[in-house]
Amino acid sequence: MPLRHITCRHTSPCSAKSALRLASHCSRAGACAALGWALAISCGTNLLAQPSDATDAAALIANAYPNHIAKIEAGKVHWRDGTSMPFDDGGGPKAFKHWLDAPDVEDMLDQPYPTGAAITPPGPDQDPGRARNAEFFAKIYGDCRKGEVAPHLVDVVWLPKKWGRKLKVSSVNGVAQQLDAVSRALDALPPRFDRYLLPPAGTYNCRVIAGTNRVSAHGYGIAIDIATAAADYWRWTKPGADEAPIWRNRIPQEIVDIFEKHGFIWGGRWHHFDTMHFEYRPELNPPSRAAAPAARQP
Ligand SMILES: [Zn+2]
Repeated sequence: MPLRHITCRHTSPCSAKSALRLASHCSRAGACAALGWALAISCGTNLLAQPSDATDAAALIANAYPNHIAKIEAGKVHWRDGTSMPFDDGGGPKAFKHWLDAPDVEDMLDQPYPTGAAITPPGPDQDPGRARNAEFFAKIYGDCRKGEVAPHLVDVVWLPKKWGRKLKVSSVNGVAQQLDAVSRALDALPPRFDRYLLPPAGTYNCRVIAGTNRVSAHGYGIAIDIATAAADYWRWTKPGADEAPIWRNRIPQEIVDIFEKHGFIWGGRWHHFDTMHFEYRPELNPPSRAAAPAARQP
């Protein structure tokens, strides 16, 4: 039952939008617990006297991209270059497929990312971070199809002692510095972890996500696929009788913990799992303060 995972960790107190989403997830799961409905109702009533979760989502997003976002106000993201784009499209809660295909900026934080949690199978349609607003990411990192990402790519040496070859990632917003810190920490792990990390399957790649026309996180230079040897991917796996993916994972917690400390989210936390995939998403998983000085500098 996914309800506990889609409650409002970032959104206390919750808005009616959250409550509706809870109810929507609940009915899709087909087994709504009394606890879930009580929570949804409680969220809805809080809205009247409290700031909405949009405020929390706005703060998380603005804090994650301080060099790009001046403020989020009146339903708009105001960029430091003077332009703006919608923060909330006004469409209300979205069904899962629509959320994935066409999220507004606010929607990207609908599902809280469970940083640091023990690895467990996500609930149905729990894919925190899989919804990406393409316009938002293109504004920050560029549109790779227009050649805007490549000029910002820099080298990061992957596992300097154990492998020592260079990978290309974006220098924007501290991505390269954070991946470099990840690389050094992973390099210090015992040899039994090597098979998960070497050779890496890739970083920057201007492509769309398989089965979609959406630019992959790899197209922004913010993602890395570690080794394929022990990777599991929902599209490679036979679904269950209800056509839902059957989650599986072989990546150790120690590796996930290191990435998460530095602002990356992991595809193994998705019901539609992709366990070799990590991407830098500080709005969902702010880097630990000690790990993030480079990302916070103007
Ligand atoms: Zn990937």
